[in-house]
Amino acid sequence: NSTSSGPDTRKPSHLFYQSRLRRPLVARAEGIYLWDQSGKRYIDGTSGPMCVNIGYGNPRVNEAIKRQLDQTSFAYRLHFENEAAEELARELTAQMPGDLDRAFFVSGGSEAVESCIKFARQYALATGQDQRRKVISRFPSYHGGTLGALAVTGYEPLTAPFAPMMESMPKIPAPTTYLDRDNLSPEQRGLKYADLLADAIEREGPESVLAFLMEPVGGASTGALVAPDSYYGRVAEICKQYGVLLIYDEVMSGAGRTGRYLAADHWGITPDIVALSKGLGAGYAPLGAMIARTPHVEAVLDAGGFMHGYTYAGNPLACAAGRAVLHELLDHNLMENATLRGEQIQAGLRRLAERFPFIGDVRGKGLLVAFELVSDRATMAVLPKELNAYQRCVDLAHEKGLIIYSRRTRGGIEGDHLLVCPPLIVTAAEVEEILSIIADTLATFAQ
Ligand code: PMP
Repeated sequence: NSTSSGPDTRKPSHLFYQSRLRRPLVARAEGIYLWDQSGKRYIDGTSGPMCVNIGYGNPRVNEAIKRQLDQTSFAYRLHFENEAAEELARELTAQMPGDLDRAFFVSGGSEAVESCIKFARQYALATGQDQRRKVISRFPSYHGGTLGALAVTGYEPLTAPFAPMMESMPKIPAPTTYLDRDNLSPEQRGLKYADLLADAIEREGPESVLAFLMEPVGGASTGALVAPDSYYGRVAEICKQYGVLLIYDEVMSGAGRTGRYLAADHWGITPDIVALSKGLGAGYAPLGAMIARTPHVEAVLDAGGFMHGYTYAGNPLACAAGRAVLHELLDHNLMENATLRGEQIQAGLRRLAERFPFIGDVRGKGLLVAFELVSDRATMAVLPKELNAYQRCVDLAHEKGLIIYSRRTRGGIEGDHLLVCPPLIVTAAEVEEILSIIADTLATFAQ
């Protein structure tokens, strides 16, 4: 288990999350580090998960929140505008490609995805396309915990219990091309997977398909899966051809994590709608956003308004935090650092793969990096489930003071992967320390 050493003498908890397992009480956090109450220091190698992009305890963000708190902590959005939300919308949309110029703020990633789906539907209604209601997504994928976001999530263990309570949407396979044993080039493979979307649209009936939703770089469900370059452009073309809205879930990949503000920017794609969260508030505030294109927003507003909202949408405290986070990201060139440090991590993991034959694929973009644990690198065969490899490595790293994230799934099939995604402020020396703890962890695991 992952708790600190010694018997747990704490009072019974009235709080509950996923299991009975109790975690150490956090005492303090700064930069890429957290300390528990026993004084033990941990490196956050997964940015708590993939969220604290600018590190903990940033004085500029703390100051911005305090200033906003002293001015106005809350003003209901349908009664008052607030400058923090206005300014964040202006500065955030300036980071977006094309005419993605309008922001709708929410409190997290699931709400952002829900907003994208409901916005897409209202755009279809506003433009006389009432039949369009199906959102095609991919498996594996994770798009959030609310019922709407779960309906488009491609991860059975999470969706199965609720299947009777929601209408599951059509799914196509995400491009796990590294597992393919055909003779195609990466470019051909990318196109092959993209064409699965056209097949699905034809199968479902083009007039009934509202949108296609995808994570441009997969998150925890796939282990930082990146598609061949050809995939992205072809998917966008297919969506355009069929009048299907392209929604990018950049809740994890966005806000600079992959080295560009949006992962979409690596491929020059302008999606129709984008979901953001995690790195937007970077752990300083619950914040998410749906970014939409001006003509679409105008159409929805002309048709009577966007019938959707949350009490905390556009919350001044959260938006003030988000604005300071964005300033930190830009002023310190953290996206450039994400690219460099991500390359350093991938190179380090490839070196470790020479020493540890059970390291399989190493992949990712910027500081969204993963590696697999396999029994045979040539065939990419998985390790036996009973070995619990992913959890064992997480626990060993935890003992050694490194927090990493893992899942026993890859490309929708069984397999162990570990994510290495430290904050974007991580230095070259800190990356070496992370790699050395991973090396120790794997050496202990191999015993
Ligand atoms: N989409 C993606 C790609 C995610 O990674 C997550 C969170 N892991 C979500 C949506 C849901 O975000 P939240 O947990 O903030 O609701």
